[in-house]
Amino acid sequence: MEQRANLPWYRRLHWQIFVAMGLGIVAGLIGGEALVPKVAWIGTLFLKLLKMIIVPLVLTSIVSGVASVGSGRDLGRLFGKTMGYYVMTSALAALTGLLLVNLIKPGVGANLGGVEQAEMPELASKTPIDLVLDLVPENVVRAAADGDMLPIIVFCILLGATIAALPKAPQRTLIDFFSAAFQAIMLLTRGIMRFLPIGVFAMITKVVGSSGVEAFQALGLYMLTIALGLLVHLFVTLPLVLRFLGGIPPAIHFRNMVEPLAMAFSTSSSAATLPVTINAVENKVGVSNKVSSFVLPMGATVNMDGTALYECAGVIFISQVLGAQLGFTEQLIVVATALLASIGAAAVPSAGLVIIFIVLEAVNLRGPEVDAIVLTMLAIDRPLDMARTAVNVFSDSCGAAIIARSEGETEVDARVVA
Ligand code: ASP
Repeated sequence: MEQRANLPWYRRLHWQIFVAMGLGIVAGLIGGEALVPKVAWIGTLFLKLLKMIIVPLVLTSIVSGVASVGSGRDLGRLFGKTMGYYVMTSALAALTGLLLVNLIKPGVGANLGGVEQAEMPELASKTPIDLVLDLVPENVVRAAADGDMLPIIVFCILLGATIAALPKAPQRTLIDFFSAAFQAIMLLTRGIMRFLPIGVFAMITKVVGSSGVEAFQALGLYMLTIALGLLVHLFVTLPLVLRFLGGIPPAIHFRNMVEPLAMAFSTSSSAATLPVTINAVENKVGVSNKVSSFVLPMGATVNMDGTALYECAGVIFISQVLGAQLGFTEQLIVVATALLASIGAAAVPSAGLVIIFIVLEAVNLRGPEVDAIVLTMLAIDRPLDMARTAVNVFSDSCGAAIIARSEGETEVDARVVA
């Protein structure tokens, strides 16, 4: 773990990030649309730098981590705990969304006429068998080039487990190789992160500068409902899980996670945030590479609490706008499909809203009226996406900390690092 540095506040990264966010909001409000093209490229450059390291990071992190887990039994145990945590927290999030949207009823009487709609990206329809087949890459290099994370993760886990089964000599050579490569990539990550405040400033300026207000007014109550749900999950549910399942003080964990939270908020992409998350979870929270390399890349891809909450609340909202009553069983179907849809959502901006059609379909909500409401929701999706991505990333980090504790890593979150 890094040592607490004796730096003045303004030289600490998390303060620089807060200041950058504030300046970004002010610049976006004052500069508006005109400023966007001037600063947007800086954010794009920063994002590209982070995306550049995702594939090598996932490869070296998972292979070195899984190879050092040891026996298949150990790997199976880690896998079981990880999946158990993902399903439990995503289900809690979806239920929170369900409860709030039923209490607040933001869709009853909402008038969405006249609000500008956005363009819908294409959604390929897939059967469950297609989803299973998609887990295995036909060509690893192509999967990496397309940024298809799940097949890459599957390949890396298989390769790591195979290395663990090799005789001692070649096993040592390969573990040393992948561990050394992982260290190099992490060093590169930390170098890129020095520019985090500049990247955050540019990305926030772009978001604030290019948002219109009228859609925000029409969907205000709906946005508030989602925001409230995300806040409850972030500040109540996950801290309780951290405290009671991991014996971890939530306040310390929050402090250790400021950088990934800011990054997730600014980029709306769990995948782009992954390098920053791994850095914080290993160097600040103090989780071993063995656990973090297993839990975090997979978490960024399949564990999306914020998205599960959003799917659930979003679908009920749409049913309320349409005046359709969803009964108890149908609401349970919504929760279950919201969970599955959040697992299938890509870790990129707006993925959550695109896959809402899967959940809508499960309760027979379809047709031009439904499409029109979703397109209106897309127009105001960015701030909600920022918030749910932050929740997604935070939940991954809690999972890593809790699982590490359960594996006997007592140093986890033992101290705050500036
Ligand atoms: N943007 C989210 C993420 O990357 C996914 C979503 O749209 O809900 O975690």
